[in-house]
Amino acid sequence: MFLYNTLGREIQEFTPVTAGTVGFYGCGPTVYNYAHIGNLRAYVTHDILTRALRYAGYDVKHVMNVTDVGHLSGDNDEGDDKMVKSADERGKSVLEVAEFYTTAFFADIDRLNIRRPDVICKATEHIEEMIALIKRIEANSFTYFAGGNLYFDITKFPAYGEMGRLHLEEQKAGARTGVDENKRNPHDFVLWFTKSKFENQALVWDSPWGRGYPGWHIECSAMSIKYLGEQFDIHAGGIDHIGIHHTNEIAQSEAATGKRPWVKFWVHNEFLVLDRGKMSKSTGGFITLQTLIDAGYDPLDYRYFLLSGHYRTQLQFSYEALNGARNARKSISDRIRVLADKAVHIPERIADEKAVAYLAAFKAAIENDLSTPRALAELWGLLKDNSVPEAEALAAAFSMDEVLGLKLKDAVKEKEKISSDIERLIAERTAAKKAKDFAKADKIRAALKTQGIILEDTPNGVVWRSIG
Ligand code: AMP
Ligand code: ZN
Repeated sequence: MFLYNTLGREIQEFTPVTAGTVGFYGCGPTVYNYAHIGNLRAYVTHDILTRALRYAGYDVKHVMNVTDVGHLSGDNDEGDDKMVKSADERGKSVLEVAEFYTTAFFADIDRLNIRRPDVICKATEHIEEMIALIKRIEANSFTYFAGGNLYFDITKFPAYGEMGRLHLEEQKAGARTGVDENKRNPHDFVLWFTKSKFENQALVWDSPWGRGYPGWHIECSAMSIKYLGEQFDIHAGGIDHIGIHHTNEIAQSEAATGKRPWVKFWVHNEFLVLDRGKMSKSTGGFITLQTLIDAGYDPLDYRYFLLSGHYRTQLQFSYEALNGARNARKSISDRIRVLADKAVHIPERIADEKAVAYLAAFKAAIENDLSTPRALAELWGLLKDNSVPEAEALAAAFSMDEVLGLKLKDAVKEKEKISSDIERLIAERTAAKKAKDFAKADKIRAALKTQGIILEDTPNGVVWRSIG
């Protein structure tokens, strides 16, 4: 498996810390609003990554956090607390807001056929771990206390900003409006807030630095270390996290443990953009999965649309492109149904040489930095190739779908459901005829005809054929 590693800015061969197993942490949602379809691109990327690793034979432990405290509107400790602001606007408590949007988030995840992470951890349930980690950072002399908050001093960590290739000298303290005056360096960041800048901070905890709440970055370090250990394999998020959030996570984790590198591979997805520009969760006016569903799309149309682009290229959302994805998915389902009609028995092991070759090319595409566009091209090649025996083609397509997650088997299930509905109606019609209720029998025949199903009475019983 080869992955682009933001740490080295190149595609590198992936090898895990411990042979055969992969510890993977993907930054999860801040639950103050619905996820927009841009956020969902990040989680589809994480899903493809976990599925690809499992397909390649790794045993993956996927951890995702849910941020329900400490995330300010500016990642650099500026602005309002996102949760508190949302709760105030909605006249609800922070916990009510968190619960509502967490439920909505996982409903979206399920509808996109994203497998649930193995561990889902809430920030508010890991305050103890965060305090313990901050204590270690403090004991190693990476902190200072100013204006009621505990800060991370980046000058004590010479490798600060390496991943993001940040040019620290470009930014002078106080150069930007809104920079916290307590900071010795504008890149310093809060580990623990005690003197809240928000009067109505809803959730506060006791700590060695006073009653308060954690900074946003510390939660990801504390929870990933808790579930994956002090050094693990992969950490992922959107590219917006490279410069601040992930940079700070690296600094504080390595400062606490003294171990480098904390994480071996950093995987960042590019943004989904609208033709009118950036999509933002805090400014509202964004598109959610429900928006697409209300417009008549299947969530998997959106999944297909995302897979048609590579995760490291910016993707422009448009309804035209989504229509294209919907049509492509429909053609795939139609073809799967035709194959299922002809296939007698779907083999466990794929033996046909050509099917094997398509599958190998598919695997190579996925293992080459998750190239889903090329992987989809292999699926199409397979489905269009009439020289592959139907059962073999189906088996190979279903195997590919373990990574793609497009629910290709549903096309067959749908067909089976239609058949069983027809069989049931035929039985009802036969019973009606037997009971000399010819009006009812004719009604059933007519109803089926409107669905394109023609019944023929033969000496061996009723047979049906589709004229659709
Ligand atoms: P948030 O809930 O705001 O913390 O964001 C959740 C995830 O979505 C993060 O990994 C972000 O980097 C990512 N993200 C935010 N906006 C976009 C976008 N427009 N396209 C792709 N990923 C995004
Ligand atoms: Zn994070």
